[in-house]
Amino acid sequence: MTITPIRTQSASSTELEDLDRRHLIHPLQAAAISDRLVIVRGKGCAVWDADGNELLDATGGGLWHSHVGHGRRELAEAAAKQIEQLEYFTSYQEFTNDKAIELAVRLSGLAPADLNKVFFTSGGSESVETAIKAARLYHARRGQPDRTWIISRLYGYHGANYGSGTLTGFEPMHLSVGPNLPHVEKVSPPYLYRAAELYGDQDPTDFLINELEQTIERLGPGNVAAMIGEPVMGGGGVLTPPADYWPRVREVLNKHGILLIADEVITAFGRTGAWFDSAQRDMDPDIITTAKGITSGYFSFGAVLLRDGIGDAITEDYGFFHGYTFSGHPVGAAVALANLDIMEREDLPANALSIGDWFRAGLAPLADVPTVGDVRVEGAAAAIEMVADRQTREPMAFPDVFGLTAQIRAKHGVITRPYAHNIILSPPLTMNEDEVRRASAAIVDVLTQTAANG
Ligand code: PMP
Repeated sequence: MTITPIRTQSASSTELEDLDRRHLIHPLQAAAISDRLVIVRGKGCAVWDADGNELLDATGGGLWHSHVGHGRRELAEAAAKQIEQLEYFTSYQEFTNDKAIELAVRLSGLAPADLNKVFFTSGGSESVETAIKAARLYHARRGQPDRTWIISRLYGYHGANYGSGTLTGFEPMHLSVGPNLPHVEKVSPPYLYRAAELYGDQDPTDFLINELEQTIERLGPGNVAAMIGEPVMGGGGVLTPPADYWPRVREVLNKHGILLIADEVITAFGRTGAWFDSAQRDMDPDIITTAKGITSGYFSFGAVLLRDGIGDAITEDYGFFHGYTFSGHPVGAAVALANLDIMEREDLPANALSIGDWFRAGLAPLADVPTVGDVRVEGAAAAIEMVADRQTREPMAFPDVFGLTAQIRAKHGVITRPYAHNIILSPPLTMNEDEVRRASAAIVDVLTQTAANG
């Protein structure tokens, strides 16, 4: 069989869409999704489709990751310069490279004081896999090989591989692909909008701490390696825990010698106003996983930061027999360094907080829309929780939420993202007040109109 090569640059959007349908499988593709939207260019908070239509990107490239916005020449130049100098050489065993070293030092400086060991990956799922293995290996090296259980939370998102996917607390991730990673246990999330149904009349933190203690007792405290959690749950719908949640979780884990992994794949590097969100929530993690914003998506890259003692323990003896071909990729590291330069220079963590204030103001009219259950904003991350019924708080069905985001895009040219029963907003941290106002007005218009039309 011969395949006629096509030049996608000269193909029409319809041709591209047809070819896509024939040859590409998308992440999260489903039978009901028949449309295709081919994105070909980006600049700042704008992207353009193959027909030349300009769209306002309120999702940060779709997946919370475009911190410095699209089309930054500085990052293209950093990548090009590094490719000319050295495109890649392994970091296995004794080999290393100057950019990976520089980035590890820089991350250690930004991270909480005693997390000075860094392991590089190509993305969030790999970072989480690495953290699970490191936690179990740490205990084994310390003479406690039975500590294999990992506790995660319902509604937590930790990735799509067999380890990280098992930790992820969304059912569709597990449909018909089992058996999953053994020794994973889920506990309830801090979800204040649903406090009555989840915790009855108990104080949410009391309930959650009690549940955690009971879970650890049931598994056997000497069998638990780690708990993993996002400081603020992202995919779960921007769920910020009560202020006493993480300090009390940490206290319980300390009592039993269990490690705490902060999954900061979404929250690290300024999205919620801090370089590491765990630091502003008194989480005191032993391991932090990152990806996404570390390069703003200009290169597939991630980093795991480990407490010194953990990093030392896992490299003892026969060592840490774990790694990816592209761990410590010099181009990724060079792009990450240039990306951090931009974020520091433009003080993007501070702008993330302003974005949050602008969204709170812009989305305020949603308080009167009967299909909106809750609006949660945490810096440049927001979730609009859609309900079928405000009284019962029954979640709106996903296809309806998907339909609303499609309407927001079709009518106003604003990209938002449906996830479960939430409309998620995670714009570039560079978004300005006018753009936030436009995005908010588009959302308010469509949600108000559709609710009125019943
Ligand atoms: N952890 C968290 C908190 C995430 O939000 C994600 C992705 N959304 C991941 C891990 C997995 O990252 P990746 O998709 O890069 O593998």
